[in-house]
Amino acid sequence: MPGTVWFVGAGPGDPELITVKGRALIEQAGAILFAGSLVDEAATRWAPPGCVIADSKGMTLEEMSAWLIEQAGRCGTVLRLQTGDPALYGTLIELVQPLDAAGVPIGVVPGVSSAMASAAAAVESFTLPEVTQTTIFTRVEGRTPMPEGEDLAALAAHRSTLCIFLSITLLHKVEAGLRAAGWPEDAPVVVVHKASWPGQQRIVRGTVATIKHLCREAGIVSQAMVIASPTLGARHWPELTKSRLYDAAFTHRFRRASAPGE
Ligand code: SAH
Repeated sequence: MPGTVWFVGAGPGDPELITVKGRALIEQAGAILFAGSLVDEAATRWAPPGCVIADSKGMTLEEMSAWLIEQAGRCGTVLRLQTGDPALYGTLIELVQPLDAAGVPIGVVPGVSSAMASAAAAVESFTLPEVTQTTIFTRVEGRTPMPEGEDLAALAAHRSTLCIFLSITLLHKVEAGLRAAGWPEDAPVVVVHKASWPGQQRIVRGTVATIKHLCREAGIVSQAMVIASPTLGARHWPELTKSRLYDAAFTHRFRRASAPGE
């Protein structure tokens, strides 16, 4: 019987933001494959002596699945440590399929996504009553094409919260998408670089008009979450429904909705 390969969300960067279950699996792991480009090696600090630890940074997907299958033949608990949560922009399914084909049992342990860590860092809420009750996790088109209907302009038309991954070098596309959906030039946008990484986290607050320039000035070119939302800055609003009341489209709906009672 081969061992089990566990896909474990390592969290956004702070080694303390792994789950208790993820840490317990590290403590009993015979082998760990971690995504070195994004997961700090500190995440493997709880591994037992003799645990085989490898960085997947320079490996192809085929090499990674071969490595996991080989280790599962040797020990009971094998870990694939992924950044944030394994369900978002990871290679979960690409790695699970060859393990299924090889008859290796697998399990997935969720993690704290960088989207959540970025909200925490900036003290922002993705949802606010009467402002937005929806959050969209997306990216803009880079080398990976966007499926039809998912370009940022279409998603931004909902006026909900947008967590935009993998797009810090494509801020011109972010700005264009928000503008095309009618977001005003002064709509707030927050960028969080290395959310939760001890001593390395940076927060840049700007607007549709300024965010690209501000990030360029700050030299932020990687590992950053872009958040565009009508809820941003609500910590400092005098009234919590202000944003909705000042939005032309929402005001229109609000008036119609309240008409029968007037
Ligand atoms: N599964 C991961 C996402 C991997 S895709 C998760 O749930 O967070 C990699 C992208 O995630 C990066 O381009 C960046 O947009 C974002 N990211 C990862 N770690 C981050 C961090 N600590 N701070 C801000 N953004 C981060």
